[in-house]
Amino acid sequence: MLIDTHCHLTYDFSQIGGTDAVIARAENAGVRYLICPTADPEDINAAIKIANENRNIFATIGIHPEHAGICARDYITDEILNNPRVVGVGEIGLDYHEMTSDTRTAQAELFESQLEMACNHKLPVAIHTRDAEDDTAAILARFPDICGVMHCFTSGWNLAKKMLDRGFYFSASGILTFKNAGDIRETFSRIPLDRLVVETDSPYCAPVPYRGRQCEPAYVVETAKVLAEIKNIPFEKMSDIIIENVKQLYPKIEL
Ligand SMILES: [Zn+2]
Repeated sequence: MLIDTHCHLTYDFSQIGGTDAVIARAENAGVRYLICPTADPEDINAAIKIANENRNIFATIGIHPEHAGICARDYITDEILNNPRVVGVGEIGLDYHEMTSDTRTAQAELFESQLEMACNHKLPVAIHTRDAEDDTAAILARFPDICGVMHCFTSGWNLAKKMLDRGFYFSASGILTFKNAGDIRETFSRIPLDRLVVETDSPYCAPVPYRGRQCEPAYVVETAKVLAEIKNIPFEKMSDIIIENVKQLYPKIEL
């Protein structure tokens, strides 16, 4: 039994049979639980609807840095964060790769306002960071009570060490299985077992051997297999550890 801790189920899966088919294939593959994050504020209602209607699906609600400039409070209400199916705030963070540098102040404002929400509601966060490691760590340092997960973690040991010291978890995506991702596997080999979870980030980043296809939650099995290899433990044991870690990471989830 596995859990895909980050799959964008509100995106368009019509080319591979639709969202219901994708959810059914996950279940068949032993991926029993799914966590659906939001990035675009327009997806918030859809994510909550999916989580409300499916016992094995949970949502995290957040606005991605690519929407910097908007006010998170206009979209994320206390009522949303109090919903028992909403288990965290995310994905939120900083992205200096896709975004031009003049958005940095607005990105920081959007990020901080959502960290405040997480603080007020005592919710864990799912962090997106790309080419922005130092600023991400600096902003998080101002919120010492917050815990959460580094989603689709591809940064180096420097950031891993800082976030480990704060009690964060690390989510491996399909990138872990890529041939040229030796440095990422090396970083994950150093992260303790009790801080590891897995995700697909569907519909992006399909793992080997499905590269090039649209990614779906069933494929998280491939990433968990590689993680088990890296840690030199049986796949079943790795799966059990991941489930246990998710319970610690997202206390509102009852599996
Ligand atoms: Zn994502």
